[in-house]
Amino acid sequence: MTRNDPKSTLNQAGGSINHRAGYDFDKETKREALRLSHYRCEVCGKMKHETPEGFLSIHHLLPICIALEFYPEFSASLIASLANTMVVCVECHKEQDMLSMKYHEAFAQALLASTKQPKKPPRSASKVIYISSR
Ligand SMILES: [Zn+2]
Ligand SMILES: [Zn+2]
Repeated sequence: MTRNDPKSTLNQAGGSINHRAGYDFDKETKREALRLSHYRCEVCGKMKHETPEGFLSIHHLLPICIALEFYPEFSASLIASLANTMVVCVECHKEQDMLSMKYHEAFAQALLASTKQPKKPPRSASKVIYISSR
């Protein structure tokens, strides 16, 4: 047994960075997310050159830190799957991160549902939550 004592990973919010390996989207998933969003922020519709920062990010609908803490049964590949992506600009990303923390149960359910209906785009769930929170 060369594994670390699990207790040693229970420090501070966010936990160990190493545990996030595999939970991040790979290049292909990011590319596909951008393609599906038509290279626009899914919240405000800006393209990367229209943002002050000049780039778009791929947000985790169910954030890695939340998944690690509340949904340990979710696999890394599920967290890193296309169904968990959302293309956002820097400005909208802040808000989405807050929503993801607040409504993580809904995002977790949507993510689980996506595994049963792989063809269904993951977009609707987040949009509904976004609108209803306003
Ligand atoms: Zn935006
Ligand atoms: Zn995010």
